[in-house]
Amino acid sequence: MLDTLTSRLSGIIKNLRGQARLTEDNIAEALREVRMALLEADVALPVVKDFIAHVKARALGREVIGSLTPGQALIQVVHEELTRLMGNQVADLDLATTPPAVILMAGLQGSGKTTTSAKLARLLKEQKKKVLLASCDVYRPAAIEQLRQLARQLQVDFYEAPEAVRPVEIARAALDFARTRYYDVAIVDTAGRLAIDQEMMDEIRALHEALKPIETLFVVDAMQGQDAVNVARAFNEALPLTGVVLTKLDGDARGGAALSVRAVTGKPIKFVGVSEKPTGLEPFHPERMASRVLGMGDVLSLIEEARRQVDQAQAAKIAKKLKVGKGFDLEDFRAQLQQMQKMGGLAALLDKLPGNLAQAAQGHSLDDRLLRRIEGIINSMTPEERANPAILKASRKRRIAAGAGVQVQDVNRLLKQFEDMQKMMKSLSKGGLGKMLRGMKG
Ligand code: GDP
Repeated sequence: MLDTLTSRLSGIIKNLRGQARLTEDNIAEALREVRMALLEADVALPVVKDFIAHVKARALGREVIGSLTPGQALIQVVHEELTRLMGNQVADLDLATTPPAVILMAGLQGSGKTTTSAKLARLLKEQKKKVLLASCDVYRPAAIEQLRQLARQLQVDFYEAPEAVRPVEIARAALDFARTRYYDVAIVDTAGRLAIDQEMMDEIRALHEALKPIETLFVVDAMQGQDAVNVARAFNEALPLTGVVLTKLDGDARGGAALSVRAVTGKPIKFVGVSEKPTGLEPFHPERMASRVLGMGDVLSLIEEARRQVDQAQAAKIAKKLKVGKGFDLEDFRAQLQQMQKMGGLAALLDKLPGNLAQAAQGHSLDDRLLRRIEGIINSMTPEERANPAILKASRKRRIAAGAGVQVQDVNRLLKQFEDMQKMMKSLSKGGLGKMLRGMKG
């Protein structure tokens, strides 16, 4: 994903790193490269123009203040502007309404609507929501069957519509069904066409009117490149979209869509699809994506930073344990978390890992708030418990939970996270984090 763009931009950055001073000419030259790189990655032209103009204005201003080298300053501006282009903040689903909260899925056929509906259902079910899946795609019985099967596989309820009923009636009936049976969320999948057509747009507008969804998500295939932008524009004009899901980012898409869809629709990318599997949906992190695009994901820079900030002896100790692949206990886990926080939190750490490792690590879904909570829980344990979590039975867990001001489930979750972390450590130690930490001994 975004590989071409990344390698091109890292080339530019490398050249800039060699510059003692950045003149207006240098900026212009570097920006020409950035512009080419973005266009090659299928970012829409108006978006690129706007982007370059912003970077230029800000870079020239910054050169004057700079305690950084001019090259660093430019990279920083490009990074900030890329983040801004993709929406700055992580955008969550907004389901705060009288239940059922309706999520309407819109997009072309093949964009991944049905798959994404199921993925969302899975995610919300995990958050203990009672979820109903419904399909209004009366034109393609196979699409309905696909969703029914996914629902069955995920053990999520599926609304069985009566035969030969119009989409809007199905939608109304599904909503009634969800209302009377106290569902928290109803996800409504709709019919797509291979290209934009008036009938489809009229139908989805009618569905929107009937359902009054709190979320109207536009699903778009990242592999569509420039076309994605046109489709996004059409849907955005037809419907009050609340967010975008960019699918198939795991493919060999040039990924420019991630950069332009937000700019064109003004709507946040809420999720990205990263595999065909029901687990392959992740919240979209603009800042992380910008870092990856810039190829800041080099382990070298992490080592540099880590060398400065990490307690060397600790690192060596952990590295040794990683090397032997066992003996990594909760005490080490806590030390590891503290180091992560020193290095700017997990997000910053992930950004600095090369793409594939970062993705592996992301799959373990830790976030910074969770890191702090985990630390609190470990602090409430005795050294013996930390060394040997197996002795943690119900009464100890209750005591620890009370000590940390959390629920027993949280303690259980931590133990699960710890196991995951052990697994992650093992996989990273094969060539990534382990090697990196070992490198820090000296
Ligand atoms: P719909 O016609 O919009 O409902 O699209 P589908 O949900 O049927 O998806 C079309 C194809 O894209 C299916 O083969 C999906 O498995 C695949 N797909 C959907 N999302 C992703 C994704 O994020 N990554 C990958 N690799 N494939 C995806």
